[in-house]
Amino acid sequence: MTKPKIAVIGGGIAGLACAHRLIELQKENQSNFEVHLFENSSRLGGTIATEVKDGFVLEQGPDSFLSEKPWGVQLSKRLGIESEIIGTRNEYRKSFVVRKGKLHELPEGFYLIAPTRIRPFLSSPLFSLQGKMRMAAEFLLPKKNSTGDESIGSFIRRRFGREALDRVGQAMLAGIYSGDPDRLSLGATMPRFRELERNYGSVIRGLFVEAKKKKELSKASGPRYSLFLSFRNGMETLVQKLAQVIPHESIHLNSGLTKIDYDRSTNRWRLSAASSHGKEFDFVCLALPAFQAARLFSSEYRDLSEKLSEMVYESVATVNLVFKRSEVQHPLNGFGFVVPAIEKSPLVACSFSSVKFDHRAPKDFVLLRAFVGGAFGRNFFAMNDHDLIEVVIAELKQLLQIQREPTMTLLSRYASSMAQYQVGHRELVSEIKAKAKETPGLFLTGSSYQGAGIPDCIFDAEKQAEEIHQLACRSNQMVGSEW
Ligand SMILES: Cc1cc2nc3c(=O)[nH]c(=O)nc-3n(C[C@H](O)[C@H](O)[C@H](O)COP(=O)(O)OP(=O)(O)OC[C@H]3O[C@@H](n4cnc5c(N)ncnc54)[C@H](O)[C@@H]3O)c2cc1C
Repeated sequence: MTKPKIAVIGGGIAGLACAHRLIELQKENQSNFEVHLFENSSRLGGTIATEVKDGFVLEQGPDSFLSEKPWGVQLSKRLGIESEIIGTRNEYRKSFVVRKGKLHELPEGFYLIAPTRIRPFLSSPLFSLQGKMRMAAEFLLPKKNSTGDESIGSFIRRRFGREALDRVGQAMLAGIYSGDPDRLSLGATMPRFRELERNYGSVIRGLFVEAKKKKELSKASGPRYSLFLSFRNGMETLVQKLAQVIPHESIHLNSGLTKIDYDRSTNRWRLSAASSHGKEFDFVCLALPAFQAARLFSSEYRDLSEKLSEMVYESVATVNLVFKRSEVQHPLNGFGFVVPAIEKSPLVACSFSSVKFDHRAPKDFVLLRAFVGGAFGRNFFAMNDHDLIEVVIAELKQLLQIQREPTMTLLSRYASSMAQYQVGHRELVSEIKAKAKETPGLFLTGSSYQGAGIPDCIFDAEKQAEEIHQLACRSNQMVGSEW
């Protein structure tokens, strides 16, 4: 009897979480199948990459994950690395927004676009008096009844006014999605705001009510994680642990796929250029950005390939910079800042990494991480490495009053890495999934579909693994009964 064979394509967090869950399920159920993970490059982790150097922990890709979405923490617990998780340093739990070349504190209680505390909001120099009045009027505005999707830009303008979008909303979203709010889908990026409007008639009112409920809940349930989490030695801890737990013989590095085809005579997927570890698989899970998945299909799958290609991506870069603490005049008393596009700065955002998390830099040094590119920063992303680093340093010197050059820099580019969940994204994903289902044994996961954050990627990848496992067990039984 031949065992069902499963191929997971892509060794980013999605592919790793999918392969790991399959192996977990195999052990739990003593199921009989083979799992192979194929990764194009010579390393695992995809976007997640940490460089530990001279006592500094430099995050090139993601620097944290959300605790509110439990799947990152849950996986860490199952992997036995929960004790490595660190939270943010809450004494510095505030952020800044740049206005006219200066950093201003985001008013306390400000939730992405919505003020929830009156006094700090009224005294903030980030908005004009007129802008503040317009934002506060959100409380009284009637709700919109239509059920269709809308851009997050249109939602913020409709509920809070243009200034809220231009001065804060766009910048906060750019720090997460690197996108243009007038194209990004409200339903796919910030569904909570839509729900708050629907359920409470106003976002501000909804936030008040929910905060009250949460306060009551938290009284009963003891200590909690901070909102953003990381690992003591950086985000790559998660990748390294997954790589340890997945059997060595299941992982194939430098094994990029060039083509996949379904062979109707054998009912199996034939993979091209997937090393010598067998080329025929019963199940294939593509854990790749949609545009990369699109390229693998032959003309027989033109419809699916075209749908996958409709997804749009933005490119971003990070620049880690180390400065001597004594040479930075700004108190750095927060997690970092975001920069609205109207400031025309090369920066989208900057994290004060060694303030946000412990264990990121030796004493007397600060580690900053600038974020560049996205929908409004394509011209900066297009610069050569030297010029890009220079403009970032010049801007940081001016914003944070830094006197000297950094003692270390690390530029990391992520071309076409940020899937843009544009208006109608959910429908596009449903169409893609429906098309994929037309051919047996084909699965899609990764940051392009159900959520771009690490916990979302883990959740969806594990869900695909569970579906594949069920089907593999069923096909095993069928093959078994024939024998
Ligand atoms: C700069 C940056 C900062 C971010 N910050 C955060 C953050 O702080 N918190 C957070 O939650 N999220 C963050 N994100 C988002 C998050 O990191 C990503 O959404 C997530 O890591 C994507 O994982 P993935 O497995 O879907 O894709 P990827 O990480 O892109 O992995 C895909 C893998 O597939 C491989 N591959 C490609 N083609 C082939 C092929 N033909 N054959 C075989 N292998 C192939 C690639 O080499 C790659 O390893 C950030 C993203 C970026 C770019």
